[in-house]
Amino acid sequence: MNRRTFLLGALALGGLSSLVSRLQAAENLPSDVIKKIVKSDAEWKALLPLDRYKILRKEATEPRFSSPLNHEKRAGTFACAGCDLGLFSSKTKYDSGTGWPSFYRALPGRVGTKVDTFLWRPRTEYHCIRCGGHQGHIFDDGPPPTGKRYCNNGLALRFHAGVAP
Ligand SMILES: [Zn+2]
Repeated sequence: MNRRTFLLGALALGGLSSLVSRLQAAENLPSDVIKKIVKSDAEWKALLPLDRYKILRKEATEPRFSSPLNHEKRAGTFACAGCDLGLFSSKTKYDSGTGWPSFYRALPGRVGTKVDTFLWRPRTEYHCIRCGGHQGHIFDDGPPPTGKRYCNNGLALRFHAGVAP
């Protein structure tokens, strides 16, 4: 190998790895650029109405068929009731018949998940990536194209009518 082929090889490798890291950065972009909101429990309690506080900060579940958002069919964005970060597009909302607002996909990078255990059965909890506010649970009985059902508390969301993201 002469110096020139060595340099070209190094450039090609360097170019490829920088392309790969750029692609990775683009994929992670939404959550990377979203600055987390951190507040104490007392601050959240002072900020939120009690029913929203119990869901967002204590992972309570609202009674089924209680949310007016079950019937919301306009175009727009469903945002976190804790910090107003857009979490779902109206395009991915569907009527699951469960009594809770349901979506088959979250906006990219906007929710985080953790596994919790309810009646000895593991469930996937999801929450707003910015403020950590609990939203609901993900189940595997959703419609195509994802087969997922994001079962969301209506009180954990605010709806903004407008162009759907
Ligand atoms: Zn939030």
